[in-house]
Amino acid sequence: MSKHTPPPIHDVAAEFDGLPGVGPRAALRYAYWLVSQPKERIIRFSEAIRKLAEQITRCNVCGLWSSTSPCIICANPKRDQSKVCVVAHPQDVRILEDSGVYNGLYHVLSGTIDPISGRTPESLNFPTLYKRLQPPVSQIKEIVLAFDPDVPGDTTALYLRKQISDQFGEQVRITRLARGLPNGAQLEYADEMTVAEALENRK
Ligand SMILES: [Zn+2]
Repeated sequence: MSKHTPPPIHDVAAEFDGLPGVGPRAALRYAYWLVSQPKERIIRFSEAIRKLAEQITRCNVCGLWSSTSPCIICANPKRDQSKVCVVAHPQDVRILEDSGVYNGLYHVLSGTIDPISGRTPESLNFPTLYKRLQPPVSQIKEIVLAFDPDVPGDTTALYLRKQISDQFGEQVRITRLARGLPNGAQLEYADEMTVAEALENRK
């Protein structure tokens, strides 16, 4: 970065650099845009970020980002305790919730298995899922796998099916969202109708 960039602008740009889809040039553009905003706007922005660190935690049951642990979904007795939908990312939960057809619980793995990108099973949130499935406390009868229909999604589904059947046998049924989602499509960009259909036709 140029020596003409004042250090506070440089520091903000350095924070933006590396955000999803943001490189050094865009980062600098954002920093210059921000500095041109009214002071209150800049402070509000920084406060909002600070609250992420102070007020958001991971639900110790399902792994969702939440202001409480357990989160409001895990703590809601009206949710169907016999179903757990396993997703790769926390934002996938919002999409499934918006579909309006699922009333069970969730489990967030924080990624999918992808050896090429260095994501091994050990780096994902599997142990807490197995803990939730332990008899005799577990009421879980069905695991719904909701991964993107791509290679890492398929790899993770295969891995999890094997692990669960090895550890828990016939105790739980494992289903996966139907291929209503086009191959390679990301759950994140699927519309509500498609997600609802994929949920209803799970196999
Ligand atoms: Zn939770």
